[in-house]
Amino acid sequence: MFKIDTFDFAGKKAIARVDFNVPLDENFVVTDDTRIRAAVPTIRKVTENGSIILMSHLGRPKGVTEKYSLKPVISKIEELTGKKVKFATDCIGEIAEKAAADLKPGEILLLENLRFYAEEEKGDKEFAKKLAKLADIYINDAFGTAHRAHASTAVIADFYDDNHKLFGYVMEGELHSLDQVLRSTKKPVTAIIGGAKVSSKITIIENLLQRVDNLIIGGGMTFTFVKAMGGKIGSSLVEDDYIETAKTVIAKAKERGVKLYLPVDSVNADKFAADANVAFSAIDQIPDGWMGLDIGDRTIQLFSEVIERSAVVLWNGPTGVFEMEKFEKGTVEIAKSLVKATVKGAFTLVGGGDSVAAINKYGMETKVSYVSTGGGAMLEFLEGKVLPGVACIPR
Ligand code: AMP
Repeated sequence: MFKIDTFDFAGKKAIARVDFNVPLDENFVVTDDTRIRAAVPTIRKVTENGSIILMSHLGRPKGVTEKYSLKPVISKIEELTGKKVKFATDCIGEIAEKAAADLKPGEILLLENLRFYAEEEKGDKEFAKKLAKLADIYINDAFGTAHRAHASTAVIADFYDDNHKLFGYVMEGELHSLDQVLRSTKKPVTAIIGGAKVSSKITIIENLLQRVDNLIIGGGMTFTFVKAMGGKIGSSLVEDDYIETAKTVIAKAKERGVKLYLPVDSVNADKFAADANVAFSAIDQIPDGWMGLDIGDRTIQLFSEVIERSAVVLWNGPTGVFEMEKFEKGTVEIAKSLVKATVKGAFTLVGGGDSVAAINKYGMETKVSYVSTGGGAMLEFLEGKVLPGVACIPR
Protein backbone atom coordinates (compact mmCIF):
# COMPACT_ATOMS: atom_id res chain seq x y z
CA MET A 1 0.00 0.00 0.00
CA PHE A 2 1.46 3.33 -1.09
CA LYS A 3 0.59 6.85 -0.08
CA ILE A 4 0.83 9.50 -2.76
CA ASP A 5 2.56 11.87 -0.36
CA THR A 6 5.59 9.64 0.03
CA PHE A 7 5.59 7.99 -3.40
CA ASP A 8 8.61 8.74 -5.57
CA PHE A 9 7.52 9.62 -9.11
CA ALA A 10 11.04 10.49 -10.27
CA GLY A 11 11.30 9.91 -14.01
CA LYS A 12 8.01 7.97 -13.99
CA LYS A 13 4.84 8.44 -16.01
CA ALA A 14 1.59 8.19 -14.10
CA ILE A 15 -1.86 7.94 -15.63
CA ALA A 16 -4.48 9.45 -13.33
CA ARG A 17 -8.23 8.98 -13.52
CA VAL A 18 -9.59 12.33 -12.47
CA ASP A 19 -13.12 13.71 -12.46
CA PHE A 20 -13.23 16.59 -14.93
CA ASN A 21 -16.92 16.13 -15.62
CA VAL A 22 -17.49 19.85 -15.14
CA PRO A 23 -20.37 22.10 -16.20
CA LEU A 24 -19.77 24.23 -19.33
CA ASP A 25 -21.80 27.21 -20.57
CA GLU A 26 -22.97 27.71 -24.18
CA ASN A 27 -19.54 29.14 -25.08
CA PHE A 28 -17.82 26.04 -23.63
CA VAL A 29 -16.45 27.95 -20.67
CA VAL A 30 -16.11 26.00 -17.41
CA THR A 31 -18.68 27.47 -14.99
CA ASP A 32 -17.65 25.52 -11.87
CA ASP A 33 -14.01 24.44 -11.56
CA THR A 34 -14.32 22.73 -8.15
CA ARG A 35 -13.43 19.31 -9.57
CA ILE A 36 -10.42 20.59 -11.50
CA ARG A 37 -9.23 22.48 -8.43
CA ALA A 38 -9.56 19.24 -6.42
CA ALA A 39 -7.15 17.43 -8.76
CA VAL A 40 -4.41 20.05 -8.51
CA PRO A 41 -2.56 18.61 -5.45
CA THR A 42 -2.18 15.23 -7.20
CA ILE A 43 -1.03 16.90 -10.43
CA ARG A 44 1.47 19.05 -8.51
CA LYS A 45 2.86 16.11 -6.56
CA VAL A 46 3.41 13.87 -9.60
CA THR A 47 4.93 16.62 -11.72
CA GLU A 48 7.48 17.54 -9.05
CA ASN A 49 9.76 15.01 -10.74
CA GLY A 50 7.53 12.80 -12.88
CA SER A 51 4.93 13.34 -15.60
CA ILE A 52 1.18 12.93 -15.46
CA ILE A 53 -1.39 11.80 -18.00
CA LEU A 54 -4.89 12.91 -17.03
CA MET A 55 -7.94 11.01 -18.16
CA SER A 56 -11.61 11.73 -17.50
CA HIS A 57 -15.09 11.57 -18.90
CA LEU A 58 -17.28 14.57 -19.64
CA GLY A 59 -21.03 14.18 -19.99
CA ARG A 60 -22.67 11.24 -21.67
CA PRO A 61 -21.54 11.31 -25.31
CA LYS A 62 -22.62 8.63 -27.75
CA GLY A 63 -19.39 8.13 -29.69
CA VAL A 64 -17.12 11.01 -30.67
CA THR A 65 -19.10 14.24 -30.10
CA GLU A 66 -17.22 17.56 -30.29
CA LYS A 67 -19.67 19.08 -27.81
CA TYR A 68 -18.27 16.75 -25.14
CA SER A 69 -14.60 17.34 -25.90
CA LEU A 70 -12.36 17.92 -22.88
CA LYS A 71 -10.54 20.74 -24.71
CA PRO A 72 -12.33 23.51 -22.76
CA VAL A 73 -10.78 22.13 -19.59
CA ILE A 74 -7.17 22.69 -20.79
CA SER A 75 -6.99 26.40 -20.03
CA LYS A 76 -8.49 25.86 -16.56
CA ILE A 77 -5.86 23.26 -15.65
CA GLU A 78 -3.18 25.62 -16.95
CA GLU A 79 -4.59 28.49 -14.92
CA LEU A 80 -4.79 26.43 -11.73
CA THR A 81 -1.42 24.66 -12.00
CA GLY A 82 0.56 27.39 -13.74
CA LYS A 83 1.83 24.75 -16.17
CA LYS A 84 1.32 24.15 -19.89
CA VAL A 85 -1.01 21.24 -20.70
CA LYS A 86 -0.52 19.03 -23.75
CA PHE A 87 -3.59 17.46 -25.29
CA ALA A 88 -4.13 14.16 -27.12
CA THR A 89 -7.19 14.16 -29.39
CA ASP A 90 -7.67 10.44 -28.76
CA CYS A 91 -7.37 8.67 -25.41
CA ILE A 92 -5.91 5.45 -26.86
CA GLY A 93 -4.03 4.31 -29.96
CA GLU A 94 -1.22 5.97 -31.89
CA ILE A 95 -2.06 9.58 -31.05
CA ALA A 96 -2.20 8.94 -27.31
CA GLU A 97 0.84 6.66 -27.36
CA LYS A 98 2.98 9.19 -29.20
CA ALA A 99 1.91 12.01 -26.88
CA ALA A 100 2.61 9.84 -23.82
CA ALA A 101 6.01 8.76 -25.15
CA ASP A 102 7.01 12.40 -25.76
CA LEU A 103 6.05 13.46 -22.25
CA LYS A 104 8.95 14.68 -20.09
CA PRO A 105 9.24 14.94 -16.29
CA GLY A 106 7.22 17.88 -15.04
CA GLU A 107 4.79 17.79 -17.97
CA ILE A 108 1.03 17.27 -18.09
CA LEU A 109 -0.89 15.50 -20.83
CA LEU A 110 -4.69 15.51 -21.00
CA LEU A 111 -6.41 12.76 -22.97
CA GLU A 112 -9.65 13.31 -24.88
CA ASN A 113 -12.95 12.17 -23.31
CA LEU A 114 -12.82 8.49 -22.34
CA ARG A 115 -16.51 8.07 -23.07
CA PHE A 116 -15.98 8.70 -26.78
CA TYR A 117 -15.47 4.94 -26.55
CA ALA A 118 -18.41 2.82 -25.39
CA GLU A 119 -15.78 0.40 -24.07
CA GLU A 120 -15.07 2.76 -21.18
CA GLU A 121 -18.44 2.32 -19.46
CA LYS A 122 -18.55 -1.36 -20.41
CA GLY A 123 -15.35 -1.91 -18.44
CA ASP A 124 -13.75 -3.44 -21.52
CA LYS A 125 -10.44 -5.18 -20.74
CA GLU A 126 -8.78 -4.50 -24.09
CA PHE A 127 -9.60 -0.80 -23.85
CA ALA A 128 -8.27 -0.67 -20.28
CA LYS A 129 -5.09 -2.39 -21.45
CA LYS A 130 -4.59 0.28 -24.12
CA LEU A 131 -4.90 2.99 -21.48
CA ALA A 132 -2.52 1.15 -19.16
CA LYS A 133 0.05 0.97 -21.97
CA LEU A 134 0.51 4.73 -21.70
CA ALA A 135 2.05 4.87 -18.22
CA ASP A 136 4.08 3.08 -15.52
CA ILE A 137 1.79 3.95 -12.63
CA TYR A 138 -1.97 4.15 -12.20
CA ILE A 139 -3.55 6.70 -9.89
CA ASN A 140 -7.24 6.71 -9.12
CA ASP A 141 -8.28 10.18 -8.01
CA ALA A 142 -11.92 10.21 -9.11
CA PHE A 143 -14.10 9.41 -6.13
CA GLY A 144 -17.20 10.55 -8.03
CA THR A 145 -16.93 7.55 -10.37
CA ALA A 146 -15.49 5.05 -7.87
CA HIS A 147 -18.83 3.21 -7.70
CA ARG A 148 -18.53 2.31 -11.39
CA ALA A 149 -16.53 -0.66 -12.69
CA HIS A 150 -15.47 1.24 -15.80
CA ALA A 151 -12.28 0.64 -17.77
CA SER A 152 -10.50 3.72 -16.38
CA THR A 153 -11.90 3.60 -12.84
CA ALA A 154 -11.24 -0.03 -11.93
CA VAL A 155 -10.42 -2.48 -14.75
CA ILE A 156 -7.18 -0.68 -15.69
CA ALA A 157 -5.78 -1.44 -12.23
CA ASP A 158 -5.49 -5.14 -13.21
CA PHE A 159 -2.65 -4.18 -15.52
CA TYR A 160 -0.51 -2.82 -12.69
CA ASP A 161 1.03 -4.72 -9.78
CA ASP A 162 0.46 -3.51 -6.23
CA ASN A 163 3.65 -1.44 -6.31
CA HIS A 164 2.45 0.61 -9.24
CA LYS A 165 -1.06 1.74 -8.33
CA LEU A 166 -2.29 4.13 -5.69
CA PHE A 167 -4.94 6.69 -4.77
CA GLY A 168 -4.57 10.41 -5.42
CA TYR A 169 -5.23 13.06 -2.79
CA VAL A 170 -8.95 13.42 -3.58
CA MET A 171 -9.58 9.72 -3.11
CA GLU A 172 -7.42 9.56 0.02
CA GLY A 173 -9.30 12.49 1.52
CA GLU A 174 -12.71 11.03 0.78
CA LEU A 175 -11.86 7.56 2.07
CA HIS A 176 -10.21 8.92 5.18
CA SER A 177 -13.26 11.07 5.98
CA LEU A 178 -15.74 8.28 5.40
CA ASP A 179 -13.66 5.96 7.58
CA GLN A 180 -13.68 8.56 10.34
CA VAL A 181 -17.47 8.28 10.36
CA LEU A 182 -18.07 4.61 9.64
CA ARG A 183 -15.19 3.24 11.72
CA SER A 184 -15.05 5.90 14.36
CA THR A 185 -13.48 5.09 17.70
CA LYS A 186 -14.78 8.38 19.10
CA LYS A 187 -18.29 8.65 20.43
CA PRO A 188 -21.04 9.67 20.11
CA VAL A 189 -21.43 9.39 16.36
CA THR A 190 -24.47 11.19 14.96
CA ALA A 191 -25.92 10.91 11.47
CA ILE A 192 -28.47 13.36 10.13
CA ILE A 193 -30.33 11.92 7.21
CA GLY A 194 -32.65 14.29 5.42
CA GLY A 195 -33.87 14.71 1.87
CA ALA A 196 -37.04 13.77 0.14
CA LYS A 197 -37.69 10.06 0.36
CA VAL A 198 -37.22 7.06 2.62
CA SER A 199 -36.94 4.82 -0.44
CA SER A 200 -33.73 6.47 -1.67
CA LYS A 201 -32.08 6.49 1.77
CA ILE A 202 -33.26 3.27 3.39
CA THR A 203 -30.15 1.20 2.64
CA ILE A 204 -27.99 3.97 4.11
CA ILE A 205 -30.20 4.16 7.20
CA GLU A 206 -29.98 0.39 7.68
CA ASN A 207 -26.19 0.44 7.41
CA LEU A 208 -25.86 3.46 9.71
CA LEU A 209 -28.01 1.79 12.37
CA GLN A 210 -25.10 -0.59 12.90
CA ARG A 211 -22.58 2.21 13.26
CA VAL A 212 -24.00 5.33 14.87
CA ASP A 213 -25.20 6.29 18.35
CA ASN A 214 -27.73 8.89 17.23
CA LEU A 215 -29.77 8.90 14.07
CA ILE A 216 -31.58 12.12 13.21
CA ILE A 217 -34.25 11.97 10.53
CA GLY A 218 -35.39 15.14 8.79
CA GLY A 219 -36.83 16.38 5.50
CA GLY A 220 -39.64 14.85 3.49
CA MET A 221 -38.96 11.32 4.69
CA THR A 222 -40.03 12.32 8.19
CA PHE A 223 -43.69 11.96 7.33
CA THR A 224 -43.54 8.30 6.41
CA PHE A 225 -42.19 7.72 9.93
CA VAL A 226 -44.78 9.99 11.54
CA LYS A 227 -47.60 8.25 9.67
CA ALA A 228 -46.15 4.88 10.73
CA MET A 229 -46.51 6.04 14.34
CA GLY A 230 -50.13 7.08 13.80
CA GLY A 231 -49.61 10.85 13.43
CA LYS A 232 -51.61 13.25 11.23
CA ILE A 233 -49.45 14.48 8.35
CA GLY A 234 -51.96 16.41 6.17
CA SER A 235 -50.79 16.41 2.56
CA SER A 236 -47.07 16.10 3.39
CA LEU A 237 -44.84 13.93 1.24
CA VAL A 238 -45.34 10.27 2.17
CA GLU A 239 -44.45 6.88 0.77
CA ASP A 240 -47.22 4.59 1.90
CA ASP A 241 -45.41 1.49 0.68
CA TYR A 242 -42.53 2.34 3.05
CA ILE A 243 -44.58 2.60 6.23
CA GLU A 244 -43.66 -0.94 7.27
CA THR A 245 -40.01 -0.15 6.49
CA ALA A 246 -40.21 2.90 8.74
CA LYS A 247 -41.66 0.74 11.54
CA THR A 248 -38.80 -1.72 11.11
CA VAL A 249 -36.24 1.11 11.35
CA ILE A 250 -37.86 2.33 14.58
CA ALA A 251 -37.77 -1.21 16.02
CA LYS A 252 -34.19 -1.89 14.91
CA ALA A 253 -32.96 1.38 16.37
CA LYS A 254 -34.47 0.41 19.71
CA GLU A 255 -33.00 -3.10 19.53
CA ARG A 256 -29.50 -1.75 18.78
CA GLY A 257 -29.60 1.05 21.33
CA VAL A 258 -29.43 3.75 18.64
CA LYS A 259 -31.25 6.91 19.67
CA LEU A 260 -33.64 7.85 16.88
CA TYR A 261 -34.59 11.52 16.71
CA LEU A 262 -37.55 12.60 14.61
CA PRO A 263 -38.79 16.20 14.28
CA VAL A 264 -41.26 17.26 16.97
CA ASP A 265 -42.69 20.31 15.21
CA SER A 266 -43.23 21.39 11.64
CA VAL A 267 -43.36 24.48 9.42
CA ASN A 268 -46.34 23.90 7.18
CA ALA A 269 -47.39 25.29 3.80
CA ASP A 270 -50.77 25.34 2.08
CA LYS A 271 -49.10 24.57 -1.24
CA PHE A 272 -45.67 23.47 -2.48
CA ALA A 273 -44.57 26.94 -3.53
CA ALA A 274 -42.24 29.74 -2.45
CA ASP A 275 -45.22 32.07 -1.88
CA ALA A 276 -47.29 29.58 0.13
CA ASN A 277 -49.01 30.61 3.35
CA VAL A 278 -47.15 29.34 6.40
CA ALA A 279 -48.41 27.86 9.68
CA PHE A 280 -46.82 25.87 12.50
CA SER A 281 -47.91 22.67 14.24
CA ALA A 282 -46.70 19.64 16.12
CA ILE A 283 -45.17 17.15 13.68
CA ASP A 284 -48.05 14.71 14.20
CA GLN A 285 -50.84 17.31 14.06
CA ILE A 286 -50.58 18.71 10.56
CA PRO A 287 -54.07 19.78 9.41
CA ASP A 288 -55.62 18.50 6.18
CA GLY A 289 -54.61 20.62 3.20
CA TRP A 290 -51.24 21.56 4.74
CA MET A 291 -47.86 20.00 4.18
CA GLY A 292 -44.70 20.03 6.32
CA LEU A 293 -41.84 21.67 4.41
CA ASP A 294 -39.39 22.45 7.21
CA ILE A 295 -38.58 21.52 10.78
CA GLY A 296 -39.84 23.88 13.49
CA ASP A 297 -37.92 25.77 16.20
CA ARG A 298 -38.28 23.11 18.90
CA THR A 299 -36.89 20.54 16.51
CA ILE A 300 -33.99 22.81 15.58
CA GLN A 301 -33.17 23.09 19.26
CA LEU A 302 -33.46 19.34 19.85
CA PHE A 303 -31.33 18.40 16.84
CA SER A 304 -28.74 21.12 17.53
CA GLU A 305 -28.21 19.87 21.08
CA VAL A 306 -27.55 16.34 19.81
CA ILE A 307 -25.22 17.56 17.05
CA GLU A 308 -23.24 19.89 19.29
CA ARG A 309 -22.44 17.18 21.82
CA SER A 310 -21.28 14.69 19.18
CA ALA A 311 -17.70 13.67 18.44
CA VAL A 312 -18.47 12.71 14.85
CA VAL A 313 -21.29 14.03 12.67
CA LEU A 314 -22.41 12.96 9.23
CA TRP A 315 -24.95 15.10 7.40
CA ASN A 316 -26.70 13.88 4.28
CA GLY A 317 -29.79 15.59 2.94
CA PRO A 318 -31.52 18.88 3.82
CA THR A 319 -34.07 18.93 6.64
CA GLY A 320 -36.54 20.97 4.62
CA VAL A 321 -37.21 22.51 1.23
CA PHE A 322 -34.18 24.79 1.57
CA GLU A 323 -34.51 25.96 -2.04
CA MET A 324 -37.45 28.14 -0.87
CA GLU A 325 -36.60 30.95 1.55
CA LYS A 326 -39.61 30.35 3.79
CA PHE A 327 -38.56 26.74 4.38
CA GLU A 328 -34.79 26.97 4.65
CA LYS A 329 -34.38 27.92 8.31
CA GLY A 330 -34.08 24.34 9.58
CA THR A 331 -31.37 23.47 7.06
CA VAL A 332 -29.48 26.72 7.79
CA GLU A 333 -29.60 26.07 11.53
CA ILE A 334 -28.43 22.46 11.12
CA ALA A 335 -25.51 23.74 9.05
CA LYS A 336 -24.70 26.25 11.83
CA SER A 337 -24.79 23.47 14.43
CA LEU A 338 -22.32 21.46 12.40
CA VAL A 339 -20.01 24.45 12.32
CA LYS A 340 -20.33 24.82 16.12
CA ALA A 341 -19.62 21.12 16.60
CA THR A 342 -16.54 21.47 14.38
CA VAL A 343 -15.26 24.39 16.46
CA LYS A 344 -15.67 22.21 19.55
CA GLY A 345 -13.45 19.56 17.96
CA ALA A 346 -15.93 17.19 16.33
CA PHE A 347 -15.24 15.63 12.96
CA THR A 348 -18.06 16.79 10.68
CA LEU A 349 -18.67 15.40 7.23
CA VAL A 350 -21.22 16.77 4.78
CA GLY A 351 -22.02 14.67 1.76
CA GLY A 352 -24.62 13.92 -0.85
CA GLY A 353 -25.81 16.34 -3.53
CA ASP A 354 -28.32 18.57 -1.78
CA SER A 355 -26.63 18.95 1.59
CA VAL A 356 -23.47 19.96 -0.25
CA ALA A 357 -25.51 22.47 -2.26
CA ALA A 358 -26.97 23.75 1.02
CA ILE A 359 -23.65 24.14 2.87
CA ASN A 360 -22.20 25.93 -0.17
CA LYS A 361 -25.28 28.18 -0.42
CA TYR A 362 -24.74 29.34 3.15
CA GLY A 363 -20.97 29.76 2.68
CA MET A 364 -20.10 27.29 5.45
CA GLU A 365 -18.23 24.73 3.35
CA THR A 366 -14.86 25.65 4.81
CA LYS A 367 -16.18 25.63 8.38
CA VAL A 368 -16.93 21.91 8.57
CA SER A 369 -14.27 19.19 8.58
CA TYR A 370 -14.96 17.76 5.14
CA VAL A 371 -17.38 18.20 2.27
CA SER A 372 -17.59 15.10 0.11
CA THR A 373 -17.70 15.56 -3.64
CA GLY A 374 -18.75 11.97 -4.12
CA GLY A 375 -22.50 12.08 -4.77
CA GLY A 376 -23.59 8.60 -5.82
CA ALA A 377 -20.25 7.08 -4.83
CA MET A 378 -20.54 8.45 -1.32
CA LEU A 379 -24.09 7.19 -0.95
CA GLU A 380 -23.05 3.69 -2.03
CA PHE A 381 -20.12 3.79 0.40
CA LEU A 382 -22.51 4.76 3.19
CA GLU A 383 -24.78 1.91 2.15
CA GLY A 384 -21.87 -0.41 2.95
CA LYS A 385 -21.21 -1.42 -0.66
CA VAL A 386 -17.74 -2.20 -1.96
CA LEU A 387 -16.84 0.39 -4.59
CA PRO A 388 -14.93 -1.08 -7.58
CA GLY A 389 -12.72 2.04 -7.82
CA VAL A 390 -11.71 1.60 -4.18
CA ALA A 391 -11.38 -2.18 -4.15
CA CYS A 392 -8.99 -2.19 -7.15
CA ILE A 393 -6.19 -0.56 -5.17
CA PRO A 394 -4.66 -2.00 -1.97
CA ARG A 395 -5.47 0.06 1.14
P1 AMP B 1 -32.52 14.09 -1.57
O1 AMP B 1 -31.99 14.27 -2.97
O2 AMP B 1 -33.25 12.83 -1.33
O3 AMP B 1 -31.44 14.38 -0.53
O4 AMP B 1 -33.63 15.21 -1.39
C1 AMP B 1 -33.38 16.57 -1.43
C2 AMP B 1 -34.66 17.29 -1.66
O5 AMP B 1 -35.55 17.00 -0.61
C3 AMP B 1 -34.51 18.79 -1.69
O6 AMP B 1 -34.73 19.25 -3.00
C4 AMP B 1 -35.56 19.28 -0.73
O7 AMP B 1 -36.31 20.36 -1.23
C5 AMP B 1 -36.44 18.08 -0.55
N1 AMP B 1 -37.16 18.12 0.73
C6 AMP B 1 -36.65 18.33 1.94
N2 AMP B 1 -37.61 18.37 2.88
C7 AMP B 1 -38.80 18.19 2.24
C8 AMP B 1 -40.15 18.15 2.65
N3 AMP B 1 -40.47 18.31 3.94
N4 AMP B 1 -41.08 17.95 1.70
C9 AMP B 1 -40.74 17.78 0.42
N5 AMP B 1 -39.48 17.82 -0.04
C10 AMP B 1 -38.51 18.02 0.86
